[in-house]
Amino acid sequence: MQRAPDTSHRPGVEFSRMRILIVGAGVIGLASAYYLEKAGHDVTVVDRHPGVAGETSSGNGGQLSYSYVAPLAGPGVVSKLPRWLTRRDSPVRFRPRLNIEQWRWCFEFLAACTRERSELTTRNLLSLSFLSRTLMHELIATEPSLNFDFTQSGKLVLHRDAGAMQDAIKLLEFQRTLGCEQHALGADACVELEPALATTRPLLAGGIHTPGEDTADCQRFCECLETMLRARGVRFLMNTSIDDLKVDACGNVGAWCNGAQLDADHIVIASGAGATRLLKPPGIRVPVYPLKGYSLTFDLQPETASPHISITDFSRKVVYARLGERLRVAGIADIDGYSLEPDATRLATLRSETAAVFPEVARLPIAQAWTGLRPATPRGTPIIGPTRYRNLWLNIGHGALGFTLATGSAALLTEWLAGRDGHNLRDTFALSH
Ligand SMILES: Cc1cc2nc3c(=O)[nH]c(=O)nc-3n(C[C@H](O)[C@H](O)[C@H](O)COP(=O)(O)OP(=O)(O)OC[C@H]3O[C@@H](n4cnc5c(N)ncnc54)[C@H](O)[C@@H]3O)c2cc1C
Repeated sequence: MQRAPDTSHRPGVEFSRMRILIVGAGVIGLASAYYLEKAGHDVTVVDRHPGVAGETSSGNGGQLSYSYVAPLAGPGVVSKLPRWLTRRDSPVRFRPRLNIEQWRWCFEFLAACTRERSELTTRNLLSLSFLSRTLMHELIATEPSLNFDFTQSGKLVLHRDAGAMQDAIKLLEFQRTLGCEQHALGADACVELEPALATTRPLLAGGIHTPGEDTADCQRFCECLETMLRARGVRFLMNTSIDDLKVDACGNVGAWCNGAQLDADHIVIASGAGATRLLKPPGIRVPVYPLKGYSLTFDLQPETASPHISITDFSRKVVYARLGERLRVAGIADIDGYSLEPDATRLATLRSETAAVFPEVARLPIAQAWTGLRPATPRGTPIIGPTRYRNLWLNIGHGALGFTLATGSAALLTEWLAGRDGHNLRDTFALSH
């Protein structure tokens, strides 16, 4: 059991209440607002959208994936590159652009594709994800008004060939040493666990079952947090775009909007994929680049054969999460710039992947098709903590795991802002790593 960081304000201990401006009302910004307000600070959240979760925290895969944190940058990547570069239906696609940011990210990503680096990242992320799970469960227990289709569903990761299943068992053995509870199942046992997979049985070599995983609706989570935070006095400045970060003569950073500076003692950047551009004026380079993904949401009918357990189709990198009476299908990672314009062929790929695994679901009308930009770092590790400016803090780069890691990242940031480091994780997620 992870120990929760001490983010509360204890009477009798010297405490200074600070005015904190959080840029970004996605899941990371809102979770940060929750722990900072709880610690006694005066918090304002600013976002360019009219509502919270206006970007990547809206239609994501809905998996709280505490034990599946291994980064995309892994030792097997180089052999997959030819497929990624050429096939239109590949789960990962690279579209080269005349953009230094994109090429630099790709080179740093390839440099991270070693077993040693991937294992170190997995180890670091597990420490954050286990803390996040403890805090998410604590949050749900203490805030009963939060209603966001949270289910302790468990997760089954499906493998379609024997080689991939063997690799998955090796990863399971490695992760067992780090505290993950996972079980390898044969194809029949997968169908026994999730009967909606009956028609998929011939495709399966086996699966890994992780009972301790959860699913939930990230957008609803954000909306619930907003309601709760407003009731506690947190201010929201919506439809407000921070267009500049300027450094003053004393070396403090100010957030500027339409020629006016917003008042704050400290600024927390939680602007997702927007962070790289926002941080350029004060000269902070962050290796965050968007990996564009897609999701489809289906409204389920009572008789539709659809999963109750959360499913990941490993080779196709597609996830299936039940959110109440809806099924969210998400996947695809396109290294393709900042455009949110959906590509019809990619949406068709996602639908045909669904048809292969849950044919009855794929025949339903699509209730929502969505694209989002994962704020990804090459190594897969978020960047949390201070910058070289005394009053500027980062909580960015959560890639494919922002919902999963939101509570832990926000609580650690809050602890570090108070000058404490009870978990000795400050260096692990610092900007230079
Ligand atoms: C297809 C897909 C599936 C995913 N599935 C999962 C999953 O199953 N589980 C999981 O844990 N994670 C998943 N993720 C990842 C997760 O959604 C992200 O990591 C997370 O949403 C990032 O949250 P964020 O708050 O950092 O960014 P965002 O949600 O993008 O929020 C950033 C906010 O900052 C605001 N902003 C940016 N710049 C400015 C500015 N200059 N001024 C004012 N406001 C600004 C934006 O408007 C935005 O609202 C998935 C992502 C995708 C794309």
